[in-house]
Amino acid sequence: MCGTDNTNGANGAAPIGRNNNGNANFQRNPYQPVGDFLSNVDNFQIIESTLREGEQFANAYFDTETKIKIAKALDAFGVDYIEVTSPAASEQSRKDCEAICKLGLKAKILTHVRCDMRDAMLAVETGVDGLDVVIGTSSFLREHSHGKNMAYIEKTAIEVIEFVKSKGLEVRFSSEDSFRSDLVDLLSLYRAVDKVGVNRVGIADTVGCASPRQVYDLVRTLRGVVSCDIETHFHNDTGCAIANAYCALEAGATHIDTSVLGIGERNGITPLGGLLARMVVTAPDYVKSKYKLHMLKEIEDMVAEAVQVNTPFNNPITGFCAFTHKAGIHAKAILNNPSTYEILNPADFGLTRYVHFASRLTGWNAVKTRVGQLGLEMTDDQVKEVTAKIKTLADVRPIAIDDADSIIRSFHLGLHEQSQTNGKTPHVLVQNGEEKTMATNGV
Ligand SMILES: [Zn+2]
Repeated sequence: MCGTDNTNGANGAAPIGRNNNGNANFQRNPYQPVGDFLSNVDNFQIIESTLREGEQFANAYFDTETKIKIAKALDAFGVDYIEVTSPAASEQSRKDCEAICKLGLKAKILTHVRCDMRDAMLAVETGVDGLDVVIGTSSFLREHSHGKNMAYIEKTAIEVIEFVKSKGLEVRFSSEDSFRSDLVDLLSLYRAVDKVGVNRVGIADTVGCASPRQVYDLVRTLRGVVSCDIETHFHNDTGCAIANAYCALEAGATHIDTSVLGIGERNGITPLGGLLARMVVTAPDYVKSKYKLHMLKEIEDMVAEAVQVNTPFNNPITGFCAFTHKAGIHAKAILNNPSTYEILNPADFGLTRYVHFASRLTGWNAVKTRVGQLGLEMTDDQVKEVTAKIKTLADVRPIAIDDADSIIRSFHLGLHEQSQTNGKTPHVLVQNGEEKTMATNGV
């Protein structure tokens, strides 16, 4: 796939609120992406780097068995590529890379290597489908890391690319710290590697400094300079990793690097689940037909356990409260129509929504649903009465589901006992001077 022959995007979209006949009442999908012939928001590929970037996470230690389990799960999920640690990193890394290549997965296997002929020679012997070649191009890295100038970088890059291609493998060339590299240097380097037939060039926000607007500008500029695909890699130091990935696709990038739960160096990169939460809203048909979204939780749980962390409470999709609705006004609307307060459908991920009813913010609609879940029957007036009891207790202290359930059950029991008594002698209440007969229908 090459970015320049891409013809997708919200191509031909009518101006907002107006159709081609000039009818201003045209109903427009509010989630439709911004129309742009460059956009790849509904045609992108995922390079899943849990087994490379993720191995750089502080807590990560993946033995061979764990790597194989993760690789198989990611493959079943439907990621396009799985990137693994360089075989030059250690002898075990080389063996693991070979073992993953032998699994015969549908996903292509890439390894991430320095722009160095020795690393490339080792990597092409492992059975990988391609190499992701990287070198630092910012003045910081040129001065303080590898000490090479741009002429040397370009010459070596071309040698390595030609070598990898001569072995019939795919090759990507990426700068490191692209956003703090000189733009003219960067573009002339990418133009040179594009000319020798590199499959992809990569933009990497290695330090997580870029904003979505900067990403759009750089990728858009690069899209006008090279004809090959564009891969992007975003660190999350300033919380922009998902937004940056989205903007990169809007600007014409074709591939996004992710890791499960975003694990990676420091606080990691664009998370697989978070990116798909974003993309399923923008391009539901593409995302749902390509990725097995119901596997997401299982994969995140597997990786979370492997690196000994909990899934964050605010994680998109799988955070424990991602589909929990609490305020009474929200709960009522959700129970009528979930789209009122949900942009994602939990069922798409094999999950269920939860309407919170054990709090002072609850409303009787939520409690009514809970009454039904407990298999009890009450009239609306009775539900309103028990709701008031729940709210009274919840004003005094935090209450758990069990607390609210026992209030409901004992209230219901009271109604039941009352109705039995009433069956013998109808009970009459005198309230504000009026006579009211309590329910006698045994509910
Ligand atoms: Zn990285």
